[in-house]
Amino acid sequence: MNWEPVIGLEVHAQMLTDTKIFCGCSTLFGSKPNTQTCQICIGMPGVLPVLNRKALEFAVRTGLATNCTIAKQSRFARKNYFYPDLPKGYQISQYEQPICEHGHLEIVVDGEVRRIGITRIHMEEDAGKNIHEGTGGFSYVDLNRTGVPLMEIVSEPDIRSPKEAAEYMRKLRSIVRYLGVCDGNLEQGSLRCDANVSVRPAGQKEFGTRAEVKNINSFRYVEKAIEYEIKRQIRVIEDGGRVVQETRLWDANKGITESMRSKEEAHDYRYFPDPDLVPIMVDQKQIEKIRAALPELPDAKRHRFVKAFGLPENDADMLTAERSTAEWFEAAVRAGAQAKAAANWIMGDLMKLLNEENRSIDDCFIKPLQLAGMLQLIDKGTISGKIAKSVFDEMYKTGRDADAIVREKGLVQISDTSEIEQVVDEIIARSPKEVERFRAGDEKLLGFFVGQAMKATKGKANPQMLNDLLKKKLS
Ligand code: ADP
Ligand code: MG
Ligand code: ZN
Repeated sequence: MNWEPVIGLEVHAQMLTDTKIFCGCSTLFGSKPNTQTCQICIGMPGVLPVLNRKALEFAVRTGLATNCTIAKQSRFARKNYFYPDLPKGYQISQYEQPICEHGHLEIVVDGEVRRIGITRIHMEEDAGKNIHEGTGGFSYVDLNRTGVPLMEIVSEPDIRSPKEAAEYMRKLRSIVRYLGVCDGNLEQGSLRCDANVSVRPAGQKEFGTRAEVKNINSFRYVEKAIEYEIKRQIRVIEDGGRVVQETRLWDANKGITESMRSKEEAHDYRYFPDPDLVPIMVDQKQIEKIRAALPELPDAKRHRFVKAFGLPENDADMLTAERSTAEWFEAAVRAGAQAKAAANWIMGDLMKLLNEENRSIDDCFIKPLQLAGMLQLIDKGTISGKIAKSVFDEMYKTGRDADAIVREKGLVQISDTSEIEQVVDEIIARSPKEVERFRAGDEKLLGFFVGQAMKATKGKANPQMLNDLLKKKLS
């Protein structure tokens, strides 16, 4: 039997507002427990929440960027449940009337464009954090996170493979980072993903029963956890059992998902409109104002990079995944760098060095103008591409200009024919065996001669001239 997976993702994104969603407490991460709380966010009776204007704007921004319809009127609802990290006994969320609906975004997987529907985006408050470790047998509750604004972005069950799920997540992360509404950090939990997974016989229209997998905190695990869950469900069915609707936890150490609790139904939460909060009204004028202020988004940028700079799709994709990288690239081109060359240096050497240090391109010592300067030295033949690598490393470390480094270290390329000829003659004279073998047809040995010459000139010989001379003298 051929099984088809069906996947829908619920993504929680912590919004980058300075203050909480219904009070003025700070959202700063990592402060001493319970120092960023007030009567409102710890849920004292009688206090009144007031919606943070910025949180609403961020949600609308995200909705517009994902092709959603923005509700002119939406509402908050109480989702009732008991847990120590939820002092009010209910979470303020949205239920029947979310702020955004009916959106979609496009992903490209294995060269195929896929449109993934977004059912809804709603605003809600985060809960606190229970602390069980390092507390001498007690459990504590930290309410600093209580009331931090979240968006829940719910996809349609349009995803068909673990790879598509990861790509969808990547696209979403890229968009919220472009918009500046969330920092997109999966490891720290500011972007969290619950995966709903089911399988059905290929060709069948009805969906199978889904399990919801929680606790997925990296892109690698998005794929791994879903892969495992698909296999598990197929095994259950093929062994004659049935998949039960439940919530499962991904255990990254064991590489498996484990049953956590049977799936709660919406009616278990006794949702009802929150009487403490007035309906949220957004008019067309506000929507258009927010739309007009949207930045160019990753897809549009990618298309423009292909068209305007003649870059291959893959390069454009890589360069536009992060807004800061894309802007750095464009600044280099504006400073005179040839686009493809700049792209290669950024995607190769620069990204590698940045990744090694876990440093972002924004606080990199090399500036776009300096990359353009180095590329000019290569173009003019002052340095070879090979020398450029070590110049680039030095620029990366020190933030100095390429020509200063080249001058100081005497790295100017040797393009003087007689100087290179002298080196070539010496090498040929002391390598009679190799010369004989080369002339007998072992052309791979050209590499040996090039290597020797480069060693003798400390890599400074003009490679083209060196090659031409060697071929001429050896033939
Ligand atoms: P709940 O809060 O009960 O999980 P939501 O409506 O918030 O319900 O989320 C449901 C998620 O599950 C959506 O992302 C949806 O696309 C997905 N989904 C629904 N049915 C299936 C199914 N049969 N298989 C896989 N995913 C599904
Ligand atoms: Mg769910
Ligand atoms: Zn507060």
